[in-house]
Amino acid sequence: MNTELTRDDLLFEHAAGHLPEPIALVVDTHLALSAEARARFAACLALGGALLEEVEPEPLAAGAWQRLERKLERERALPRRESEPVDPRVPRPLRRLVPRGFDALPWRNLGPAQEVVLPIGPPGYRTRLLRLKAGKSVPRHTHEGHELTVVIEGGFTDVQGHHVRGDLVIADPSVEHRPIADPDGDCLCLAVTDAPLRLTGPIGRLLNPLLRI
Ligand code: ZN
Repeated sequence: MNTELTRDDLLFEHAAGHLPEPIALVVDTHLALSAEARARFAACLALGGALLEEVEPEPLAAGAWQRLERKLERERALPRRESEPVDPRVPRPLRRLVPRGFDALPWRNLGPAQEVVLPIGPPGYRTRLLRLKAGKSVPRHTHEGHELTVVIEGGFTDVQGHHVRGDLVIADPSVEHRPIADPDGDCLCLAVTDAPLRLTGPIGRLLNPLLRI
């Protein structure tokens, strides 16, 4: 069975409100920056609506109302008219987390890259802004779980191709890559990883194949 996660999976799950907050943030940022993605999302919504008409109604998933309420509360908490000048470089879904612009964030230097971990999401997710210097690369790596990346500025190249502003890149344990930023400018990305706990002891090695089901 092919268990590869696709962008359409994410768009459908997002339309249904099923995505955990960090993943929803990635998808929202992708939608904010890509007209093509918005058109695809509209198609997913339409198809989802058509499918719903054909199935028996089901009770809402546990916690669905609470999630919706929290989302509405967060949106109410946003200033209705942005009284402070906002950095227009910051996509709208990120403005709550980056209220004073990218340059005001506490960037941590990692050599060829800088990162800021964003304080959102349930445990187990790591949500970061990454700024890869022009022409520089991230060390070659693979992934325990999924790594979802949206390009906000600039572009990068890896085994999956050349990715530019608005692109959503999905990597998983089958992908080994060494992303390299375009030579003409830094590449700023939002990246979320959902790597599960990796057990490395003898029992862990025994259990790891079971955990990957
Ligand atoms: Zn990666």
